[in-house]
Amino acid sequence: MTSLSTKAVHAGREDLVDLGLHAAPIDLSTTYPSRDCLTEAARLDEAAEGTDLGEQPVYARLGNPTVGRFERALAELEGSDTSVAFASGMAALSACLLACVASGRPHVVAVRPLYGTTDHLVASGLLGNQVSWSTVDGVAAAIRPDTGLVIAESPANPNLSEVDIRALAAACGDVPLLVDNTFATPVLQRPVEQGARIVVHSATKFLGGHGDVMGGVVACGEEFARALRQIRFATGGVLHPLAGYLLLRGLATLPVRIRAASRTAEELATRLAAHPVVSRVHRPGIGGPMVSFEVHGDPAAVVGAVRLVTPAVSLGSVDTLIQHPASISHHIMTEQDRHGAGISDQLLRLSVGLEDVDDLWADLDQALHNAKS
Ligand SMILES: *Cc1c(COP(=O)(O)O)cnc(C)c1O
Repeated sequence: MTSLSTKAVHAGREDLVDLGLHAAPIDLSTTYPSRDCLTEAARLDEAAEGTDLGEQPVYARLGNPTVGRFERALAELEGSDTSVAFASGMAALSACLLACVASGRPHVVAVRPLYGTTDHLVASGLLGNQVSWSTVDGVAAAIRPDTGLVIAESPANPNLSEVDIRALAAACGDVPLLVDNTFATPVLQRPVEQGARIVVHSATKFLGGHGDVMGGVVACGEEFARALRQIRFATGGVLHPLAGYLLLRGLATLPVRIRAASRTAEELATRLAAHPVVSRVHRPGIGGPMVSFEVHGDPAAVVGAVRLVTPAVSLGSVDTLIQHPASISHHIMTEQDRHGAGISDQLLRLSVGLEDVDDLWADLDQALHNAKS
């Protein structure tokens, strides 16, 4: 299996034919019976040290075979040793931050913009981290002896700005670089190949792909994965097996969904750039289904006027979604921090789905005329 499209369909499912199965089995067990307590005790010791317990996890908080399939598949797509799944993207990021605190290096260097709640989690110190905000160029100087992590998003939520991951990884030296790859997906970008040691996804978005499953996942090396599994086992932010099943199924169509939506997004970006109400269009250099744009007049009126496009936060679904970052996805940040991160009050964020481009444009065009002040 060398091609990403082939991996997307087959990874995590290699044993199914030998099992006489086509769809992956969903294991809903919360406990795994055994008459041998002493072996169970040894397995619990292994789990407490962060070993993946695989098919016989003793108890469902320690692992699940269906979730394990998704973890193996995602690691194969990202080109990492392994991956560790969580109940949501924020649970995944929390575990990474807690791993730093637990290792005695609670300081993080973070590059803005970040997803609003990620920014809030890091800035608030809720988990015991300290943060230094930095530009890419300032990262090397911002690193201290107690720095456990450098955090960046590329393309970043919500304005789609990108960082040179290879250059950033070099600036990090021995400190692991965490890249949130939610917006790119492994179809467009594999940060591990560019030197990032930790790749985080809100699997809720493109990996699931249909707006009906929450999840998060961290693709990384086995050593960091062990730290994450220890935290997941003790804090309990596990991915439900039904969610694991849906995420594995979502991966199979990820490449075709991303490519189709990216073509539509490119065309919509071109048409938006020529629209009199639009002052600026943001598109990532690597492409993808996200388009952000700034409008003259009232952005909230545009969200209120769409009829085909779904007026909702989140992204990565089969339907096209629009939201106003200053009101919703980045509302939790202070206005000053939001503006400092380059997030304009005039900005709208569009996650392009699989509808026909002309139908989408007809809706956006009529909605944009409502923005006029
Ligand atoms: C949505 C999002 C998250 C948080 O993920 P949840 O699954 O909502 O917890 C983190 N990072 C980015 C870039 C996101 O878009």
